[in-house]
Amino acid sequence: IYPGSVDAAGQRATLGVLGGGQLGRMFVHAAQRLGYFTAVLDPDAQSPAGLVSHHHIRTSYDDPTGLAQLAQLCQAITTEFENVPALVLQTLAQTRPVAPGAGAVGIAQNRIEEKAHFAACAAVSGVTCGPYAVIETPTQLQAVQADRADLLPGILKTARMGYDGKGQVRVRTAAELAAAWTALGGVACVLEKMLPLTAECSVLVARGWDGQVVSFAPQRNVHVDGILAVTHAYEDNLPPVLATRAREAAVSIAQHLGYVGVLCIEFFVVDDGSAHGGLVVNEMAPRPHNSGHYTLDACDASQFDLQVHAMAGLPLPQPRHHSPAIMLNLLGEVWFDANGQLQEPDWQGVLSLPGTHLHLYGKLDARPGRKMGHLTITGPDVAGVKTVARRAADLLG
Ligand code: ADP
Ligand code: MG
Repeated sequence: IYPGSVDAAGQRATLGVLGGGQLGRMFVHAAQRLGYFTAVLDPDAQSPAGLVSHHHIRTSYDDPTGLAQLAQLCQAITTEFENVPALVLQTLAQTRPVAPGAGAVGIAQNRIEEKAHFAACAAVSGVTCGPYAVIETPTQLQAVQADRADLLPGILKTARMGYDGKGQVRVRTAAELAAAWTALGGVACVLEKMLPLTAECSVLVARGWDGQVVSFAPQRNVHVDGILAVTHAYEDNLPPVLATRAREAAVSIAQHLGYVGVLCIEFFVVDDGSAHGGLVVNEMAPRPHNSGHYTLDACDASQFDLQVHAMAGLPLPQPRHHSPAIMLNLLGEVWFDANGQLQEPDWQGVLSLPGTHLHLYGKLDARPGRKMGHLTITGPDVAGVKTVARRAADLLG
């Protein structure tokens, strides 16, 4: 599907996205820059992507009329929202190319299936997930309480619908585990052993319909309260041995899935007594990812450009990372002063610093924990980027 083309019925080449959040917005920007028309399906009239798209279909994600309209408008469809029902993607795929496909999204939506997939490709990827147990029934809970003391202290995570640390409870004892499972509603969960993390990183991979694969070098991520706070994207942000292993593992996981589009795989670096630490695969997101936002400013093709190329069947450029970068997430907290009063952040100060790139998502009300935007700092050298990032973080409180 070439950008700017018009089909026999006079319709312009249009790319569609399910979900209208910030990921959809940056996807729309990338598609439009190339010359595509865009369509967003999201019920919210003020959704960040809906606000900037040629077409905005305001229905729920499973509304048959809305989905039919999306399929009618678009030559290819993607999703920015990983909890879109896999059945919806399946239905759309009957008439249009949909990337990523329902199968891969379905696996990534469920921690139990996701871990099974990681285990299935461990022999090829060389990386496994950490110790865990599945808890779907009271009987399984009792068995884990009785036999898996090795998983405590641990983290109980709902198998579905978790993000930004939501749907997770830290537990120290068998009694706390039972209470946590009840508190989470007795739904399907996994209990993971709490690992001694020395770092976290993620890898972005893009794969085309023809199997062509490109990837970015791993970025190192710092989470606060389960939410991404800072991404470090420059050479030697991780021991090179680990960086190479993570990148190769991510590529093989994407290939094993037969994935089409941009996939992000998160890894833990754990203290295993070795010089570099060990690598453990955590989870994957079947879409561009918050930890890849730096690619907009620090690479010659961004994760969103690659999503557009992959879904439309264009050649995938191997992205070149040209500048060291640090990305700071801007959560709602930045819009409040120490007394809890709303305040405008010090953009004058932040934008006076060299190499700062501000991205706001067009969300009107700032709430604590809400992703309002991000700031990427680029520069010619790592030391300078770190200094500017520290100053920017100070100005933003
Ligand atoms: P989410 O879907 O919310 O991103 P994650 O499983 O990635 O869920 O967990 C969020 C964060 O919580 C991780 O980035 C990490 O900092 C921490 N965390 C999760 N699982 C573990 C674990 N088994 N051991 C130590 N820290 C963990
Ligand atoms: Mg995560």
